Amino acid sequence: MLMDSHMHTCFSSDSETPVEAMIEQAIRLGIPGICMTDHYDREYFNGEFQLDSGAYFHKMEEMKEKYRDQIDIRIGVELGLQEQLQDWLSSYVHAYPFDFVIGSMHVLHGKDPYYPELFKGSDARQILRDYFISTEQNIDSFHEFQSLGHLDYLARYFSKELGNYSYQDYADEIDAVLKKLITYQIALEVNTAGYKTMQRPNPDGDVLRRYRELGGEMLTIGADAHVPEYIGYRFEETVSLLRACGFRYYTVFRNKKPQMIEISAG
Ligand SMILES: [Zn+2]
Ligand SMILES: [Zn+2]
Repeated sequence: MLMDSHMHTCFSSDSETPVEAMIEQAIRLGIPGICMTDHYDREYFNGEFQLDSGAYFHKMEEMKEKYRDQIDIRIGVELGLQEQLQDWLSSYVHAYPFDFVIGSMHVLHGKDPYYPELFKGSDARQILRDYFISTEQNIDSFHEFQSLGHLDYLARYFSKELGNYSYQDYADEIDAVLKKLITYQIALEVNTAGYKTMQRPNPDGDVLRRYRELGGEMLTIGADAHVPEYIGYRFEETVSLLRACGFRYYTVFRNKKPQMIEISAG
């Protein structure tokens, strides 16, 4: 079973799950290791998704100790990327001893596509294009994180308008993002929560294949679970997909250092 490097607990505004419940489910599933990645989206438009980092570390350190003989627990964070936050982001990632920082774009033009009504009147194809362009700009302005979360997050909420959009339609913009990741040695995340609405991870196999072709090697894998039932969600299919896309290893981080783990069949 793969390690799961993306999950949330009651430290995130959109989860009420006690930390212990997530850990105990991962142990039941036989997952060798997990990384906690609660949300911190500074300047989020409605004030949610702020993280009490001191309390978070205190709790997670306690959990690591409590479960040390049963599972490898790592402490991470999912940081919301916005260009104007560059200085704050840089100082925040050094203020706490994170194993792993996911950089995620939850906000485009100050609005979260989780609420598609905020983009009323805009052309869905154009906003997806803008989303990729803005992702690239964000990576340029701040790149002290270890993996880019759910590269096509926006597409999850516009699947009706976008249809089954393909990599080819946005090849230039997506390539620009992938190249930046490779330049800055940032991993690409395979986020299996995409299977819930899009029947594929975020991003899909075409993007993963292209990343490989461009020389990308580091992939982190996370189910982005906010409740215990979704830990390790669709990981078996993901293993087959990654192998089909030419990957033999996936990556986990400790103390922000990558560890390459062989993807074994089954
Ligand atoms: Zn996210
Ligand atoms: Zn998440």
